[in-house]
Amino acid sequence: MKILVMGPPGAGKGSQSAKIVDSYKIPSISTGQMFRNAYEDNEPIGIEAMKYIKNGELVSDEITNELVRLRLQKNDTERSFLLDGYPRTVTQAVALDGMLKKMGTDLSAVINILSSNDVLFERMEARRVCKECGATYHLVFKKPVVEGVCDKCSGELYQRADDTLESVKRRLEIYETKTKPLLDYYDKKGILYNINGMQSFDKVYADIELVLRDL
Ligand code: AMP
Repeated sequence: MKILVMGPPGAGKGSQSAKIVDSYKIPSISTGQMFRNAYEDNEPIGIEAMKYIKNGELVSDEITNELVRLRLQKNDTERSFLLDGYPRTVTQAVALDGMLKKMGTDLSAVINILSSNDVLFERMEARRVCKECGATYHLVFKKPVVEGVCDKCSGELYQRADDTLESVKRRLEIYETKTKPLLDYYDKKGILYNINGMQSFDKVYADIELVLRDL
């Protein structure tokens, strides 16, 4: 199972991806999380990437492609993986196709989670993320048991630097201009599955499972 989860920022791709990865026991490749981890660990790539991330801009295709290329070389990706937040541009999609071709494989499905802009803004303002494990919470709909503390690992919860109003606006603009064209790209390949993201978390997941079951 080699799948890609797409959707505008705040559509729930991170939380849904986490559940898929957990249920199917497949490795997750989240470029956003990899950049944030590298930043936390003071790695040069993380420090460079955060300059773009905090303003809601995309990290360069070169840096991002290289990050994924190295990650795909690890043995655990041979049978299955879930890509979350990569590719985000047509250039990245073409690069990914090249990497997969070299591995003698291809994507099985692209899950696209759809949502309206109103819902996206509301979700991102209230989003909190665990510093340790990356789990996401919502201050109204998915509250942690203890305020500011992760239910899973007791890590500290924080608001992402790019979840500010200005940054969210910019990320949505970039999604529209740079990432949305990818939907056409994958639709033409016949592997795009649209999922309504404006439902409860469990209903969205159930719809995703219907797609995964038939792969
Ligand atoms: P995410 O956690 O997927 O929302 O990603 C957070 C931020 O990391 C994005 O807004 C970008 O600045 C950066 N980023 C993540 N994935 C990519 C990518 N595939 N290409 C470029 N920048 C990325």
